[in-house]
Amino acid sequence: MPARILDGAALARQLRSEVVPRIAAFASARGRPPGLGIVLVGDDAGSEIYVRNKLRSAGETGLRADLERLPASASLDDVLRVVARLNASDVHDAVLVQSPLPDALGPRAEQAVCDAVAPWKDVDGFHPANVGRLVQGRPTLVPCTPLGIIELLERSQVAISGANAVVIGRSDIVGKPVALLLLHRHATVTICHSRTRGLAGIAASADILVAAVGRPGFVTREFVKPGAVVVDVGINRVTSAEMARALLGDGHPRLAELERRGSLVVGDVAPDAAEVAGAITPVPGGVGPLTIAMLLHTTVRAAEQGARTTGD
Ligand code: NDP
Repeated sequence: MPARILDGAALARQLRSEVVPRIAAFASARGRPPGLGIVLVGDDAGSEIYVRNKLRSAGETGLRADLERLPASASLDDVLRVVARLNASDVHDAVLVQSPLPDALGPRAEQAVCDAVAPWKDVDGFHPANVGRLVQGRPTLVPCTPLGIIELLERSQVAISGANAVVIGRSDIVGKPVALLLLHRHATVTICHSRTRGLAGIAASADILVAAVGRPGFVTREFVKPGAVVVDVGINRVTSAEMARALLGDGHPRLAELERRGSLVVGDVAPDAAEVAGAITPVPGGVGPLTIAMLLHTTVRAAEQGARTTGD
């Protein structure tokens, strides 16, 4: 039986419609909508697209979203000054600095910027105070992609409590926070990474398998226990027709998309995994759209909470 498709795009639409009345209620109580300040440094093409999508989605729901642009030549101090201004702003409840920052800012720039965002405005949930709260199981602002994954699992009636969950990837953005969110929902969680031995066997013990690796088609059917729920977080851009054919198979309808656009977005999970899985998120249309939907929710949450950091 083919795997059930967990439709992230449909859920994202629903989540966006759910946030609209909260935005309206906030605006009527406070005389202004919740506000998000986005800082974009440099001219990374992928970041431009992500930021444009965030601004558009925010605008469609009635959120205020402002873009603060800095040139690639900006110094770390320039970036920190903009963050400080947004931290002090009365109309911005949430602050986001688009990653990646230009390499010229130095290896510690990302951490310095995460540390500088006011914890109660930290819509990405990267500030150490928010990470600590997540570890303690009393999260306030949580990274958007992991939050979207949990939302999708829960609303798809996937049983998390007692499940064996395997997360492939241990980044601060996806792997670690999603593992913690699953753990706090009483899954038994294993986190795998590039040094893990016997990865396919460990993955094949999972009732819930989350792939956040950044390698096209990495998770093949051998990684998947029959009936498992597979969450494909990967967003990988493939430009080689040969690679796309190897991943998707000759004659796959998406190969025409590659010819038309010059590239194709694929996940970390190979198509043959869907022959074994019980449920699976597609790429595109799975976890990706949920990230922006959760950004809107978290912005509203930050606005509703204000500078109260307890929230539990
Ligand atoms: P990172 O590169 O930060 O982390 C990748 C993780 O995968 C690392 O922990 C790494 O292990 C592990 N890994 C790499 N190669 C292997 C291997 N051969 N075997 C086992 N583990 C391996 O990536 P991110 O977490 O930021 O992103 C992961 C994917 O998710 C990417 O495709 C990214 O584009 C996508 N993404 C999607 C989002 C969405 O909105 N849907 C949001 C964020 C990311 P180690 O730590 O040992 O190096």
